[in-house]
Amino acid sequence: MCGANRQDAQHVLQDCPLLDDARLKYWPEPREMNQKLYGSALQLGITAEFIYASDLTI
Ligand SMILES: [Zn+2]
Repeated sequence: MCGANRQDAQHVLQDCPLLDDARLKYWPEPREMNQKLYGSALQLGITAEFIYASDLTI
């Protein structure tokens, strides 16, 4: 963990500096939080893969 007070969805998906590399891999273009959580099935699949990958590396 990076030491941030809040390890919530916003932090993990958008802000956590430890996940910058993984974030760029899954989202080369920045995406809005609501696209990651409530987007198309494709978007949600990417979000799920990112979360799965981040659990392995934290
Ligand atoms: Zn963090």
